[in-house]
Amino acid sequence: MSIERTLSIIKPDAVSAGKAGAILQHFEDKGLRVVASRKMTLSRSQALAFYAVHKERPFYESLVEFMTEGPVFVSVLEADSAVSYHREVMGATNPSDASDGTVRALYGSSIERNACHGSDSLENAQIEIGFFFSGAELLA
Ligand code: ATP
Ligand code: MG
Repeated sequence: MSIERTLSIIKPDAVSAGKAGAILQHFEDKGLRVVASRKMTLSRSQALAFYAVHKERPFYESLVEFMTEGPVFVSVLEADSAVSYHREVMGATNPSDASDGTVRALYGSSIERNACHGSDSLENAQIEIGFFFSGAELLA
């Protein structure tokens, strides 16, 4: 095991439902340390770029619309094996498949409106962290 950092996004469905604080607390209670966090509203161009990996998927346009409909919290979280561990704490993409007690089981409502995002590899975590945060913000 080694200490890693991952990029976490609390999505607009959860923020508008007033669950951002509860979800960040959930991550902290599970041992994910908050290195940096910011509330922001993604522009269309930011969402298109962030999810460009999905641009051929049928849900891409809908996902971009969803991710720009209101504010999100973008955070850098740190723990042993943070990338895979954060995804375990989030639960499966579809909340109806997510294990009891995971963030998506607790707060997600559909395969799209699933409350949170987490990087899927260490390489992508570094790219996604750099997309949202500068070096000086990551010294905590
Ligand atoms: P994320 O990247 O947000 O952490 P994930 O890695 O579990 O989620 P991906 O396959 O990367 O899942 O899909 C990215 C996001 O696109 C999902 O979190 C969800 O919001 C949306 N999405 C995925 N599959 C579908 C689908 N079949 N229909 C609608 N939206 C979807
Ligand atoms: Mg993904």
